[in-house]
Amino acid sequence: MNLAESLRHPIFKVVGEIADSKKEKAFAIGGYVRDLLLNRDVKDIDIVVEGSGIELAKAAAKKLGVKKVTVYKNFGTAMFISEGYEIEFVGARKESYRSNSRKPIVEDGTIEDDQQRRDFTINALALSLNSSSFGELIDPFNGLQDLEGRIIRTPLDPDITYSDDPLRMMRAIRFASQLKFTIVPDSIDAIRNNADRLKIVSMERIEVELNKIMMTTRPSIGLKLLMRTGLLKEFFPELLKLKGVERRNGIAHKDNFYHTLEVIDNVAMESDNLWLRWAALMHDIAKPQTKRFMPGLGWTFHGHEDRGARMVPKIFKRLKLPLDQKMKYVQKLVLLHLRPIALTKEEITDSAIRRMLFDAGDDIDDLMILCRADITSKNESKVKRYLKNYDLVKQKLIEVEQKDSVRNFQPPVSGECIMETFGIPPSANVGKLKRLIKEAILEGEIRNDYDEAFDFMLLKGAELGLEKAN
Ligand code: ATP
Ligand code: MG
Repeated sequence: MNLAESLRHPIFKVVGEIADSKKEKAFAIGGYVRDLLLNRDVKDIDIVVEGSGIELAKAAAKKLGVKKVTVYKNFGTAMFISEGYEIEFVGARKESYRSNSRKPIVEDGTIEDDQQRRDFTINALALSLNSSSFGELIDPFNGLQDLEGRIIRTPLDPDITYSDDPLRMMRAIRFASQLKFTIVPDSIDAIRNNADRLKIVSMERIEVELNKIMMTTRPSIGLKLLMRTGLLKEFFPELLKLKGVERRNGIAHKDNFYHTLEVIDNVAMESDNLWLRWAALMHDIAKPQTKRFMPGLGWTFHGHEDRGARMVPKIFKRLKLPLDQKMKYVQKLVLLHLRPIALTKEEITDSAIRRMLFDAGDDIDDLMILCRADITSKNESKVKRYLKNYDLVKQKLIEVEQKDSVRNFQPPVSGECIMETFGIPPSANVGKLKRLIKEAILEGEIRNDYDEAFDFMLLKGAELGLEKAN
């Protein structure tokens, strides 16, 4: 097979010419070739040369008129950016591993050596760039066949490949979910056997792969594989704990692991927001801890939203996820995820709507996406009824927000105004009055408006024994 026609970026001809003149062999390799054959968008190009990658990068940059070349001397690699592509250069290498580290001992090698050290056959494809064989596919491990068969397979014995660098186990599952490929059975077995080797991989690297899985169109594919291979329990045991069904007096609760996966897939259909997907992953995380069997009532998970929200920081910290407002957002959605459901069960009052708007603020739309996604009942008429109720809630939300604008609640009467009016210093009474005003607005006793709030403040101030200053 020859792909010369597809190698349009000028870098390929330029690299070929330089390599020809130095009597070296150079190739495009790895993800670039794979994605080219799959017709996927690619933004990085990997070049391998049987020679010095750094020298080749410098010479190629010069020919292309690229000024800035970044050299990683320790790794023997170099990269630059050209026409929006990140182009990385490395010398062909042979690798050998020790048991306690995923960093190999590296020596110069041939293109075959270099292809052998790649993680999967579909990632080991190379395209020759020298002029006499420009565009020819070098495929010693039948990667093309595996691409066509949509298969993830390691070039060498999978037990060794995964044990050498256990990050490859995460990558296998990531590619399986990203590309919707199947991991061959002996590779699955090898991952199961080597799952505990994940310990030598840094959490940062695990998290990158995990988030790539979370961003696929159906994250459940990858999450199920993580569970089945035993990888999940290495870094996210809380999620695994959701798995299983208990039955008492003939009453079973649903399997909260599979339910959670359905919710993430539902959210993924509506939104590309990674953190909304994380909220879906965590929304029921405290169900195992809060599970009770109440005779007459069945299974309850009382307070799991509150307890779950409190579990978020610890899990985020361990998984090296951001601890900033993104975590706060996930926490908030976990905490509030039952609120819209609760609303649909009773008569929907304006004050309940106002309270939810106040608590959710700008995240109200995401909260509604999460709640709709949370409906995974197999009972169609039930689902229909719920969804209809949500539409009602949504309608109400719009009406109430138009009337009272509490979504980004700003107190209509400020603390300064309270102090000035009563001639008092900063004190407990100021906070108390502010709270009373807010409550009155949310309850619908007064409107969210300066005049009404001011009169209400005078009234409540008097009850507290405060007098209007002159
Ligand atoms: P993507 O860019 O979509 O994440 P990719 O396959 O291009 O996928 P990169 O991390 O860019 O992944 O790596 C480029 C190439 O380097 C891969 O295609 C593969 O050949 C090789 N590679 C990357 N990581 C490993 C690894 N842990 N073990 C073996 N080979 C690897
Ligand atoms: Mg890549």
